Amino acid sequence: MRTKIIATIGPASNSRQKLSELIEAGVRIFRLNFSHGDATMFEGLIALIRELETEYETPITILQDLSGPKMRIGQLSEDSYTLKKHDRLVLGPSGSEHVRQLPFIPFDVPEIMETLEIGDKIVLADGVLPFRVTEKLDLGAFEIECRNDGFLTSRKGLALPGKPINLPAMTEKDQKDLRDGLRLGVDACALSFVQTAADIEVARKIILESGKNIPIIAKLERQNSVTNLEAILEVTDIIMVARGDLGVECPLPQLPAMQKRIIEACNRAGKPVIVATQMLLSMVNNPVPTRAETTDVANAVLDGTDCLMLSEETAMGNYPVQTVKYMTNIAQEAEKYYFEQERDMTPSKGQATPDFLAYSACLMAEKVEAKALVCHSNSGTSARLLSARRPNQLVHALTPNENVRRALNFSWGVVSDPIDKSIEAHLQRAETFVETSPEFHAGDRVVITAGQPKPGGQARGTNLVKIYHK
Ligand code: PGA
Ligand code: MN
Repeated sequence: MRTKIIATIGPASNSRQKLSELIEAGVRIFRLNFSHGDATMFEGLIALIRELETEYETPITILQDLSGPKMRIGQLSEDSYTLKKHDRLVLGPSGSEHVRQLPFIPFDVPEIMETLEIGDKIVLADGVLPFRVTEKLDLGAFEIECRNDGFLTSRKGLALPGKPINLPAMTEKDQKDLRDGLRLGVDACALSFVQTAADIEVARKIILESGKNIPIIAKLERQNSVTNLEAILEVTDIIMVARGDLGVECPLPQLPAMQKRIIEACNRAGKPVIVATQMLLSMVNNPVPTRAETTDVANAVLDGTDCLMLSEETAMGNYPVQTVKYMTNIAQEAEKYYFEQERDMTPSKGQATPDFLAYSACLMAEKVEAKALVCHSNSGTSARLLSARRPNQLVHALTPNENVRRALNFSWGVVSDPIDKSIEAHLQRAETFVETSPEFHAGDRVVITAGQPKPGGQARGTNLVKIYHK
């Protein structure tokens, strides 16, 4: 299978047995959700995943998902409020409960309260309960009007759909979590509620300061992160279409087209993209998915996603392993159809030399019906560019670096292999790999890309494409 699967770990999968079964079902990336814990909670799990990585002799990626500035209301004075459309309530900082004799919702994020205006839309409970701001009251509170019937309980999420928020993507907890995570050896980190490219730079600085170099995933969960996608793509390594929160921030009917546009932009930029949330949600309770979910997973593959992500399904569902197996089967069937389609991956005029090299390699592989593409890639970039052209052949990335191998787990159709470092020349490393790998037989043709040094010089970036006959 070309498409990669990310499984979130939780009580349903947090054991050697379940993790092994998930690896055997094809998972190579495990997501640790730091919204529900910190480094002390995940320390044992990280060590266990590393043991399994050695046992299975394949790179396994540990993805740290930082919680970000998710906003929540405080404790209500009753267990729940039963609300009817047009009901009025007060939203305000603790201490402002008596400004008006109405049910009170405490909300202690002054940066947000300062920017509220009459007419603003607020949604509570992950998008289920919409409100409109109707009046400014004393003590920094506001009167709000309910726009739907429903129940509200304490600590529910609060969002201001479409409104830029004056909060950086990395909270103090996130910064600490990231430092702790780097110390424990996480292989990638995801930033929640990213709004601008500057949010990515904050995380990059912390990572570089720790002497590491792990990929950053920008989770698109706000309208302005989608608006700023091109700038974010310049600085991030990977994008996540985080449909859970994005579907709260943006009108749900816009979500499918938004997903397609985001994926297209990522493919064009040669950066991996992940589609996340509610992909096979009904499998939390059922051993088979719904028709609509099956179609959603297949469509994400046809849209061109690199990775599919599972959340509750593998973290707290009753059928974590079956869910992964279903996802694998759906993706495999969708890929067959994908290859039947005409796909134009020609780079446009302004693109750089590496894009043209990747394009020609894929074109050659297609025309000579090559068995595979083999690329020597120190940083992983050449492998990602080949992957972005979505060739029919698997891309074997030969890289000397374990971290790069773990990062390449996010790239569609890429498998990574260690290299024989006793050989100096990159081209020869690749040819030796083809000669010695049992995957290739005499007579097979393989397209190789590698960097060849100038006479007497050092090896450098990818600059040649070769058809190699075994
Ligand atoms: P979360 O992010 O699961 O951490 O909220 C994904 C999403 O919002 O879709
Ligand atoms: Mn989210």
